[in-house]
Amino acid sequence: MKEDAPLYLDNHATTPVDPRVFEAMTPWLTHAFGNPDSRSHRFGRAAREAVERARAQVAGLLRARSDEIVFTSGATESNSLAIVGTLGGSREAHAVTQLTEHRSVLEPLEELRRLGARVDTLAVDRFGQIDADALGLSDATRLVTIMLANNEIGTTQPVAAIASLCDSRGVAFHVDAAQGAGYLPLDLTRIPVSLVSLSAHKMYGPQGIGALFVRRFGPAKPRPMLRGGGQEHGLRSGTSNVAGIVGFGVAAELMEREGAEEAVRIRGLRDALATRLGALPGAFRNGHPTDNHPGTLSVGFAGVAADRLLVELEPIVALSTGSACSSGGRPSHVLEALGLTPTERRATIRIGLGRWTTHAEVDLVAAAFEHAIGAIRASLDAGAQEP
Ligand code: PMP
Repeated sequence: MKEDAPLYLDNHATTPVDPRVFEAMTPWLTHAFGNPDSRSHRFGRAAREAVERARAQVAGLLRARSDEIVFTSGATESNSLAIVGTLGGSREAHAVTQLTEHRSVLEPLEELRRLGARVDTLAVDRFGQIDADALGLSDATRLVTIMLANNEIGTTQPVAAIASLCDSRGVAFHVDAAQGAGYLPLDLTRIPVSLVSLSAHKMYGPQGIGALFVRRFGPAKPRPMLRGGGQEHGLRSGTSNVAGIVGFGVAAELMEREGAEEAVRIRGLRDALATRLGALPGAFRNGHPTDNHPGTLSVGFAGVAADRLLVELEPIVALSTGSACSSGGRPSHVLEALGLTPTERRATIRIGLGRWTTHAEVDLVAAAFEHAIGAIRASLDAGAQEP
């Protein structure tokens, strides 16, 4: 990062690329440029080998088999392939989801609902968690789609319990694991999930590359949305993004190796920051107190508008009010689902700690919050006293 750039605590929007990832990618953007489907020469064969190595690395993160990994352009595409690809053909199908899913899950389901599918959207408790026993599975249920960790508040869902329930009834279960894969346990040899969406740019890999895990012999048999050359076992036609795939592979391997330990370190920093910010007047915190993504801190300060606070903090630290994907002023459906008042929603800030966050940064950011909130409160009080 450039010396004069503000600190970056918006790792849920995107993570910086790990230098080890970048290094692995560069040959594939320079002298090694083959198309992995060109089998008649060494350029193509080398690219094919690189793609298959990366497939094994991504599979390794989930303890899956290589032939269960389909590369896509990111979690948005993976979610669509999982949902539309599984339900698209059967319009009378029943699907179950929940209120705080990412829009790339909710919107395809909404479209299918318009076309005749029955979609149940479960409510969450005040921490943003669903009750696994409330799934309401029936013989008509084709798909359950529930995320691993929420991208705004960090709350994790009871994925293992849902997986067992779905598995016992032969229902396909899709998990959007864009946030938290590598930091949160998701061992697919033990948890019978059918479909998992991943995104490289949430795990220190490049943007524009992701994957969908499709369990072999599982209940989900998604139909392709992109047809053509038949790449990716016919599930996702289009020339492979070799550099992106190679970078994703290395990012996944690093996560497999370092993710668990890193999660402990980040959680410690996040908790230290939560304690400092929690001591400020009017502070409140959103999300589950223990079942959460280690890097997420969703906080607000009563009477202090988040937009104003972000402007004050911007020279020091890059943060956001919520999901970058639903920017453009759309109110947060996640915070609404928790039952927050409009004022509380407007006061909420999302902090996302990551691989390179340090103790010194946490101290600096906490001090910046203390100063900015003091300044805003003082100006509000002065305004209130004007005749
Ligand atoms: N799901 C979740 C939970 C996310 O946080 C995101 C990214 N904000 C996505 C899906 C979409 O991922 P991508 O940017 O790779 O399309």
